[in-house]
Amino acid sequence: MSKPTRVYDLHCHSNQSDGILSPEALVSRAKLRGVTTLALTDHDTISGLPRARRQAELEGIELVNGIEFSCMWAGRGVHVVALAFDEKHDGIQKIIREQTSLRERRTVLIAEKMEKAGFNDALDRACAEADGPAIGRPHFAQAMVKAGFCSSVEQAFKRYLGTGKAGDIKQIWPEFGDVLPAISEASGIAVLAHPLKYKLTRTKLCKLLEDFVDYGGGALEVVSGEQRPEDTRDLAKIANTFALLASCGSDFHAPSMHWGELGKFSSLPESVQPVWTAWE
Ligand code: AMP
Ligand code: MN
Ligand code: MN
Ligand code: MN
Repeated sequence: MSKPTRVYDLHCHSNQSDGILSPEALVSRAKLRGVTTLALTDHDTISGLPRARRQAELEGIELVNGIEFSCMWAGRGVHVVALAFDEKHDGIQKIIREQTSLRERRTVLIAEKMEKAGFNDALDRACAEADGPAIGRPHFAQAMVKAGFCSSVEQAFKRYLGTGKAGDIKQIWPEFGDVLPAISEASGIAVLAHPLKYKLTRTKLCKLLEDFVDYGGGALEVVSGEQRPEDTRDLAKIANTFALLASCGSDFHAPSMHWGELGKFSSLPESVQPVWTAWE
């Protein structure tokens, strides 16, 4: 008998960061969408993991520990997803505590910038949009839309919060070289998330990956939601060039998003070694 097909979605968000669904609802939706192994990877927090794990046990799907770290490389913001780590490990707990307090400080800084831009009560309004500990730019964007200060989340990012705008405060995050070793020490695997989102030249991306590998990074997100087949082929080649495992995930945030539905992306090419071989 052939083995039943497994569907891995190793990148998604709950309302503990900037997703819409509770950890429980997220796991249920994943199950409905045919996902058999899910990693909840909220931004800089693991507060949703116990709830997601309980729901996964009820639903009979596998849950892998996950988190998406905000960090810096060469003056740019980059995201590193950590998978299958021991969440009780002191080193990773310390980094996560630090990320939480950095995010709190950053929230205040973003609020100050938005106040200056004319958006009153920015801090309170952004906090009111959040259900969990990790407040970020999307909460500000949602508050700005709700208050009629911007017409859409997209517009809020375009004018105030996106790359290079006043509310894009990233200098606060640690260098990725300070985060990657803690992931390995906690027996986890570090995945460079959505490599094409950084809009790097090929030379720069290769330099980033050299550094990533030097610090113990183990995998590249070869498939990030629905993407062009040529991008998948290209990223698979890059993963193999750097002897990196390959990961895949939707980066799901909300049911209303027309991209990034849970479990909805093409499978990894045969040529790569899947990241789950690291823990299965
Ligand atoms: P932060 O964690 O505060 O840096 O916010 C980053 C998050 O904002 C990303 O994970 C996305 O979910 C969201 N985001 C980034 N750029 C945009 C954009 N242009 N429009 C809507 N959401 C965005
Ligand atoms: Mn996000
Ligand atoms: Mn990301
Ligand atoms: Mn993400």
